[in-house]
Amino acid sequence: MTTGDLADPRSAVFLDRDGTIIVEKDFLGDPDGVELLPRAAEAIRLLNQRGYLVLVVTNQSGVARGYYDEQAVQAVNNRLRELLGREGAALDGIYFCPHYLGGTLPHYRIDCECRKPRIGLARRAMEEFAVDLRHSVMIGDRAADIEFGRNLGIKSILVTTGYGFAEKERIEDEHLPPPNLIAEDLLAAVVWLLADRSRNNVSPAV
Ligand SMILES: [Mg+2]
Ligand SMILES: [Zn+2]
Repeated sequence: MTTGDLADPRSAVFLDRDGTIIVEKDFLGDPDGVELLPRAAEAIRLLNQRGYLVLVVTNQSGVARGYYDEQAVQAVNNRLRELLGREGAALDGIYFCPHYLGGTLPHYRIDCECRKPRIGLARRAMEEFAVDLRHSVMIGDRAADIEFGRNLGIKSILVTTGYGFAEKERIEDEHLPPPNLIAEDLLAAVVWLLADRSRNNVSPAV
């Protein structure tokens, strides 16, 4: 090992992709359909500047359903990185689950450990990066994202972009695990978590 980077754990922000960073398009397999949500690049840039690991964790059951293949998911992810890069924002990792028990392709029709709210994607990320979970946060637009945060033992923020507004009502109606915060979008969530961090008077992430 040449540097201490891998050995020094950093705080991470786990991010959902669809409806949180990009416009929810329901089963997006076409890179031309990638559209950043307003202020999302700014939010990610801020996290980059503050030394957070930015790790995307996304369920892509469209693969198991036969709507698009894993290469298409990669193409969409590459397009996302490209659009963010133009605005000076970068993702440290993108991890996706292609499985779904109700899918049509036998290879992917399994009860896997990586479909959120299970935490297999976070485990995969943590094989690659040393993550300090104590000040890490999950941000997403669905109840499963909030449950993922709870399962991982970290705080979670529900954004009301994508399915977030409807999910907020469902979480209340069905008494699902509530988020620590409900924010209007990713930037609002990030501003809150950075302020929360300094309120708790903790040293910076790097
Ligand atoms: Mg989503
Ligand atoms: Zn999976």
